[in-house]
Parts: sequence; structure tokens; C-alpha cells
Amino acid sequence: MIGVISKQSEVSAVKEFFQLFKTPWEWYVPHRGYGLVITTTGEVPADPGINAIAVYDSRATPLDHETGIRIRPISHPTWLKFNDADLPLYRTASVLESAEAPFLHLSGSSQGVGLEIVGTKRHIVRIGYDLFEEVSVLLSEGQPSENAGIPTLELHISLLRSIMLRVGAPFVEVLPVPAGYEFMACLTHDVDFTGIREHKFDSTMWGFVYRALVGSFRDALGGRTSWSKCRRNWRAVFSLPLVYLGLIEDFWLEFDCYMEIEKGLGSTFFFIPFKNYPGTRNSQPAPKRRAAKYDLLTIKKEIRALIDNGCEVGLHGVDAWQGTEQARTELSRIQEVTRQPNAGVRMHWLYWADTSPKALEEAGLSYDSTFGYNDAVGFRAGTAQAFCPLGGESFIELPLIAQDTALFYPDRMGLSETEAMDSCRQLIRQALLFGGVLTINWHTRSLSPERLWGDFYREFLNEIKEHRVWFRTAGQAVRWFQSRRALQFERVQFVEDGLQLKVSLPTFEPGQPPFTLRIHHPMVNGAVETDTGTQCPYADIPWKGEAELTLVQPEHSRS
Ligand SMILES: [Zn+2]
Repeated sequence: MIGVISKQSEVSAVKEFFQLFKTPWEWYVPHRGYGLVITTTGEVPADPGINAIAVYDSRATPLDHETGIRIRPISHPTWLKFNDADLPLYRTASVLESAEAPFLHLSGSSQGVGLEIVGTKRHIVRIGYDLFEEVSVLLSEGQPSENAGIPTLELHISLLRSIMLRVGAPFVEVLPVPAGYEFMACLTHDVDFTGIREHKFDSTMWGFVYRALVGSFRDALGGRTSWSKCRRNWRAVFSLPLVYLGLIEDFWLEFDCYMEIEKGLGSTFFFIPFKNYPGTRNSQPAPKRRAAKYDLLTIKKEIRALIDNGCEVGLHGVDAWQGTEQARTELSRIQEVTRQPNAGVRMHWLYWADTSPKALEEAGLSYDSTFGYNDAVGFRAGTAQAFCPLGGESFIELPLIAQDTALFYPDRMGLSETEAMDSCRQLIRQALLFGGVLTINWHTRSLSPERLWGDFYREFLNEIKEHRVWFRTAGQAVRWFQSRRALQFERVQFVEDGLQLKVSLPTFEPGQPPFTLRIHHPMVNGAVETDTGTQCPYADIPWKGEAELTLVQPEHSRS
């Protein structure tokens, strides 16, 4: 069990951190006995029941005075080297100068930011920054897009886990992915357009004509696209009059194509509630081209077909992010068409404010999936796990990890298909390491001219399918994380040769895959030394709602 002593301002960050690193913890109570106590206030209790203490603080503490550690604040941005990864810090940090050899360094330097003080009665680990201040930044504003590729919050969890192993504290955790799977994937589609017919002689149509004729010719010349795609785009431009006359099909209407590509995977479509309304921002009208040109009521049939095919339909919010009233109006407009009791939301153009989670929660939306980047792919919150933004009560955010336009638009990342696939593979690698949900947004109209990003999308899905992946709609993914959040450790008792464990959950839904309980039982004598510290064996136990588990430690790990 972990005991925590934190600043008052960090309370919600602490609670949320231990939903993501799901391991037993509580606010420190004297003389209760803890494997590890984490403190960010500088207070180090002289409690003999504490096996180890981790002091996460950038300021000098009384402990530093006693143990001869000198604190040297460093200007940020600060980068740490941990397990071959670069870990950015967003708040104040300090170098720790001491006779002890550090186990955590600044990137590209021998200066220490983490060390263990040896020769004391208990393990004391000193870290030169405040973990929960970092978590607060990640779960509210998030990281800047230049650090998008770094799963920073997951690295903080890994670092704490490695400290627990280093000090020999036995613990159990619930992995952020169901038993039997390596990660989850959620395929989503923002519906900004439903046909080019709605864009006769407007800026969208002229933009299309220019990019299809000039842009794709230039790209083919430069080897960034194939000549066959260029020919398809040219043909599409010259077929426009026939589309407008209704003589041939509108090539921007793609629902059937997506249902074909994603057969059985279950995807989520977010629809804009109002036609010709761009919304507002800072009390000013948003740019005109933010307005959708389709009317929800005229595509009722298509929306019903999506639902009948196991897809989910949600709100692509226009003003919902700004207040409860706006969110309520937009939600009821979507429900008029879906006739479903619940709906989630993602904002059009990813508009967002600190107050959005609270507004959306009060309006009755069931989740949000806006927290991501327009100009990068990766982990804005430093994790692919669904989480509770610090401004809300219990409202869940399913972070958006990758969208097509961020990868390919020249003024965004502007990648070639080969470069984009490298980026996507990197995201898959992170998902394999840390679990969570790979939430992808492929816009409708992206399969058609002039984008033609359908082949790439198919290939990306094939890469994902090479792994054991649980495909869920956004709402289903969120419900799985809500279930994991509701799980409680009633009793965790490490005894001589094993563990007595009582875990409870209000409802274990039928058909739900088991959770994985990972039991770390570090035995100091049997520990394996690695470059990064002490690594200990663990055992994975699938948990399907049993009332009580008694686990006997494997023979080989007993000392
Ligand atoms: Zn949009």
C-alpha cells in the first residue's frame, strides 16, 4: 500500500494519478504501515511503520539538510533520461548534489535528479521535482505539440513503479488494458462534410478544385503521390458538373465505404448539429468555413443505417464546449435523430476551454474525445488512457491520439505516406508498451478525391490488426475505463508465501473481458539487477469478478 502526503492543491491530481496507475493507495495515516510513502510537502514522518519514502520536491527539504543533499534549481524546460526515453518536465525541477550516485539524470548530463540515500534505517528516495504538479499540467492544459510523441504521464508511472521495485515494496496493479489484449483501438470519424453537392461554388469547392488539379499534379511530380491518384483527382474535378446535376453519385458521401472497411470493428461518427452555423469563439463569430453545409435531418436514413450496423453516433460540437446551455441544445438535436439515451462529443476544430468538462458533464453528455492536437499526433495528456480532466467531477475524456489531417495537411505535419506510416507505427509501439486506447480520427471525405487517404487508412488498420487489439466504439472504450475506475481494492495483504486479495466492483458486465491484476512481489534476495535498477518478477492474474483471491507466490521467487 502507498501512503500519500501532498499539497492541498494537488488532491485531484493525486486521485486521478492513482486511477491511471491503478494500485492501492490512501492518504497517509500515522502508524498504519506502508510499503512506500510519497511526499510532496517536504514532510518526512519519523514513523517506524514506513518501509520506504519517496520525496518528490524541487525545493530544499529538512531531509536534504540532514543528509547533506544540495539543491540547485534548474531553468525549464527540463528533460530527464529515464529507461532510454526522454521525459519532459513542465514545472520547476532541481539538480540534487550529493555523495550518493544518482539513478535518474538530466538528459545528456551526469547531473542527478533522482537518488537513493543509503545507510539509513529505511529506504529514502529523493526526486528533484513534484510528481503531482507535473500530473496536474498534463491532465489540464496538456503538453505542447512538439512533445506529442512522448507518453509523459505513462513514463511518470513507470518511474514510480521502478522506485517501488527498487525499495522492495510489494504491490498489485490493474493494467490499463483488458486481459488477453495488448491495447484497445477506437476508430472515429468527424463528419464535417457529407457531400460536395452542398458546396457549389463556395470556398470549399474552389479549394477542392485547386488541390485536386494543381496540388496533386505537384505532388505527383515531386514523388509524394502516385500518378494514378493524380489522374483520379483530375477525373473527379471534371465529373463535378455531373455530380451537381445529380447524374452520378456524390463522391464525398462515404458512410458505406467506412462500413465496408471497418466491418465488425464498430466505429464512432460525430455529426455537426446545425447547418450553416460556424459557432462563436471569444464572443466573436468563428470563421465562416467552420460551418457545416449539411442538415442532420436530411441524412437521417444514413445515420440510422450506421447505428443498425453497430456504429455509434455522437455530437460534433460547435458551441457545446462553451457552456452547459449550448451543450444541451446541441445534444438534444443529435438525440432527435439517433433516439439514443446517451451521446458523447468531440468538438469541431477541437475548440476547448478549461471549463468544458464541467459544462459537458452538466449537459448530460456521456464523454468527450477532443483532447488531442490539430497539428501533431500523440499524447496531449501524456497517456492514451481515458481519464477524468481535473476540472470535472466524474466526466471522462477519451484522448484523441491521431487524426488524418494532422498527418497530411501541408500546414500541419505535412508528411508523405511513408513518413506518416512511421509515425503511426511509433504510436502502435507506445500502445504496446503502455496500453490504453489508440483513438483515431479519419474524417469522412478523406477516402475520396482529393485526399484519397483510404489506402493509407486500410494499411494503418492492418498494422493495428497484427496485434491483439480490442476494437471498441468510443462509448464502449469509455465504459471499460469507467468499470476499471469503479474497481476497488478491499484488502491487499502480502503474507509469507503469497497474497490475499479482495477486489470489488459494483457490476461486472456479462461478456466483459477480465481485468489483469499484475502482482509484483519483489524479493530482495531473488531480485535481478538491471541497468535501470532492480527488476523483479511479477505474475498476471485475470480477474472476472471473483469475490476473493488467495494467491500463492511461485516457488522460484521465494527467498
Ligand atoms: Zn470537425
